[in-house]
Amino acid sequence: MEQKLRSEQISARLLIFMFVIILSVLLIAIPQIVQSYQEYVKLHRSLVDIQNLRIFAETSNKISRERAPSNKAMASSREELPIRIKELKEYREGVNKQIDLTVHTLQQAGFPALAKQVDVQLRNDLNFARKQVDSYIATPKDARKSIVMDHAIRDMFHAWDGCRAILQQLIIDSKQKNSEVTDYASIVLILADLRDQAGRVASNIMAPLSFAEPIPEFNKIRSLQTQEQVKYLWRLMDTIQPESLKTTKYLELHEQVKLRFIDQALPIVNQLILQSENKQAYSLNANQVTDAMVDKFTSIIDLQAYLLEMHSLEAQRQMQSAQHQFFLILLISILLLTVAFFTMLYTRRKLFEPLIQAQHMIEELFQIYERDQADIVVSQNKEAYNLTDAIDKLKEMLRQRDILEFQLKNIANTDSLSGVSNRLGLEAYLKNAQAKPNQFQKLSLIIVDIDNFKRVNDQFGHILGDLVIVEIAQCLKANISQTDLIVRFGGDEFLILIANSERNWILQIAESILADVSRLQIALPASSEKLKVSVSIGVATGAENWEALFSRADASLFKAKTQGRNKVVG
Ligand code: GH3
Ligand code: MG
Repeated sequence: MEQKLRSEQISARLLIFMFVIILSVLLIAIPQIVQSYQEYVKLHRSLVDIQNLRIFAETSNKISRERAPSNKAMASSREELPIRIKELKEYREGVNKQIDLTVHTLQQAGFPALAKQVDVQLRNDLNFARKQVDSYIATPKDARKSIVMDHAIRDMFHAWDGCRAILQQLIIDSKQKNSEVTDYASIVLILADLRDQAGRVASNIMAPLSFAEPIPEFNKIRSLQTQEQVKYLWRLMDTIQPESLKTTKYLELHEQVKLRFIDQALPIVNQLILQSENKQAYSLNANQVTDAMVDKFTSIIDLQAYLLEMHSLEAQRQMQSAQHQFFLILLISILLLTVAFFTMLYTRRKLFEPLIQAQHMIEELFQIYERDQADIVVSQNKEAYNLTDAIDKLKEMLRQRDILEFQLKNIANTDSLSGVSNRLGLEAYLKNAQAKPNQFQKLSLIIVDIDNFKRVNDQFGHILGDLVIVEIAQCLKANISQTDLIVRFGGDEFLILIANSERNWILQIAESILADVSRLQIALPASSEKLKVSVSIGVATGAENWEALFSRADASLFKAKTQGRNKVVG
């Protein structure tokens, strides 16, 4: 019961360790996952912002450019009017679609307020301006006035002003959410301004021009102010554009704006203003000016589109890299957790559980052993605390078993009367010796036989005979070392096996035995007399095998007996 509880305890501990390891992995992994996910979300946001900016910049440019077909329709001759009205209608449809797309995109991107502003306010401003344009176009030719046309043009300016406010708001919102949208967004705004202001340079003189009237001072001032504004914006953009972003393509487009717009378009307007001041006829009519100017603005739009495209691609690249990093971290974390989990599971199944089982088995074995060996106190402690304790107990058990086995073996191999080995002991010794080469060459055999022992038995009885056997065995033991073997081979016959083939040395031992036995004085029962005994000894040193060695020693013994006993022959 106690053991069961202890294994449950170990299992519970293992579970806690597993939990701690998995928790640690999670603690390391989760902040990494969250951080990389946040980075991904941030860059995704930045990409969405750029896309919003792109679409709205396009809307803004289209609205700004609507002034061209509007101006052309207002300034057209009667013959041209249907074509101009058709052109204007088509252009307006395009702008309307672009506004629809912008509203939808802003809503999707999470800018509902701005979407509404575009949908309601911008549309209203634009529709109002369009109505003014349409009303002017509908006015009969001779009832038209330059000032009314100029008003309609300025209403179109106003519609764009609303558009610019939204563009500015979009950039501010983006910057608040994401600091990445910085310089380039400002440049996009400046370019949108630049494009519109550039258009206004000509639009400001469009009404007097279409009436072939001198340009009023007010219009002239507005046109010149707009020109200054354009030049200022141009310098500003150049200043804030970071050097790192001035790529070859950028510089090329930048040069185009300067060449086509600043150097070519503005002088056209200035020449017309000069012609007005000098009261000369205008070299270009209103629609010719519009066509000449619109063509020059495309370079500004191209530059703006290039900047947006470049940043959009960069944001896309960064977002994809963040996305890859996020998935990589996620994958590594999942892999790490899985490996940790399965390692734990594997270790538990394949290592700890078998070890616990082994411990139980050893403990059970030990208990059985203790029950069976009630007399042998192996350990005072009844409970093993861990596997090491259990193994120690097992070792002790095996040691006890070895001792018992050794004792049993000794009992089996020992002659119970004399205490020396018996024939079983001899067999074991010979088996071991036969396994080694030339062992019998180095072996000597001494055979000791009690002389006339039958007579001792007959005269003094078997009990005294036994005593004589014991005493003689003691003499033999006293003359040999522990490594040598004494065997009680027959009733009164002993063999001594010595691992030494030096003949003189063996003979000395045999003589010493002979002398010791002759000095024995065995007390006789109920008598003061002592019994004296002798032995005959046959010796053989080194032989091919056991049989040869034995037969030579036996032959020597026989000689000793026949030569009168109490002697050594070898
Ligand atoms: P020899 O000098 O020729 O050896 O004469 P012996 O009388 O010793 O002749 P033998 O070897 O034939 O006699 C051995 C006797 O030893 C016979 C038997 O009664 C006696 N004997 C054998 N085993 C024991 C024993 O365990 N105890 C006693 N007391 N006597 C034994
Ligand atoms: Mg004898």
